[in-house]
Amino acid sequence: MTNRFFEHKVLEQIPAELSAILTELGLPRFCIRQLRRWIFARKTTSFDKMTDLSKETRKILTEQFGTIFQGKELTHDQSADLTEKLLIEWPDGERVECVLLRDDRNHRTACISTQIGCAMGCLFCASGMDGFVRNLTRGEILEQLLRLNSLLPDHERLTHVVVMGIGEPLLNLDTLLSALDEVTAPDGLNLSVRRVTISTVGIPSGIRKLAESVVCNGKKYKLAVSLHAPNDELRTRIIPQNRFSGIDEILKASDDYFEQTGRRVTFEYILIAGLNDQPEHVRQLVHLLKHRTAIVNLIPLNPVMELNFQTPSAKATARFAGQLESQGIQVKVRFRKGDQIGAACGQLRRIHR
Ligand code: SF4
Repeated sequence: MTNRFFEHKVLEQIPAELSAILTELGLPRFCIRQLRRWIFARKTTSFDKMTDLSKETRKILTEQFGTIFQGKELTHDQSADLTEKLLIEWPDGERVECVLLRDDRNHRTACISTQIGCAMGCLFCASGMDGFVRNLTRGEILEQLLRLNSLLPDHERLTHVVVMGIGEPLLNLDTLLSALDEVTAPDGLNLSVRRVTISTVGIPSGIRKLAESVVCNGKKYKLAVSLHAPNDELRTRIIPQNRFSGIDEILKASDDYFEQTGRRVTFEYILIAGLNDQPEHVRQLVHLLKHRTAIVNLIPLNPVMELNFQTPSAKATARFAGQLESQGIQVKVRFRKGDQIGAACGQLRRIHR
């Protein structure tokens, strides 16, 4: 055995790489199957607990990889609606948060982050206030999923994954897709691609790159575009990134995604009282979307302590949704979860700085 394998982290390696490392270590071929079953199906977080591996094998794995998880759980909060939120600190001291959402349809949804901080600077978002720090690695993205999965009782597992946490996923796309391969792998988390949603602030080149990748590998993930405003002037005010592309380009790229994948694109619209919830905004939104095969997810704003934006009332939200529907736009109102534990992305990380 040589010291060079101390550099490897088990979740960072794609299966072929891990298999090659295990072979070099002199371990039998079937070891990788057992290892993956323990990690993904049995939610095991320690090599020591992999009891169908020999003691010698477990010792070798521990010596070579150390631990399965690299991060440390700093906080674990649960709200009255059973939303759970983890704050994880990586060895370099950077922190990230991820959320487990439960609903009455028995969905168990992991909401994961792809970056430390975010360069997009959306005004309503706590994560955008600190700017971009770095991309998360494949192992760090997977670790969030495995930690959230292990919060569930033995007979339950994650049913959905939404990439809607901190960061712009399309700016860390190759790494994200590598991690998502494990989400859909039969010997990974074994979720259907239909249950995985990638949410973007709307980067046309990134949307087209995603379309090419998912058409190539056959994994047609759901795409959600954060629209949040129906005209460029307002959208650039609340999403500064908009000035580089504009709504038209984003919608064209979304049309291309639909054409290439057959997957309807969802447009997220965070409703902010007095800002983007007026009758003219309904008219503009209808104009943008009426000839498109699309769904609008309407999300009343999660209040962020440091920001001045107001959450719309339930009545105002219902009125906005009703006006869109009356014009033939398909709308779903998504109610906020986890308010007591800081469900707006980035809030918890800021509280614990
Ligand atoms: S809303 Fe998303 S894209 Fe915008 S700053 Fe926050 S994390 Fe970044």
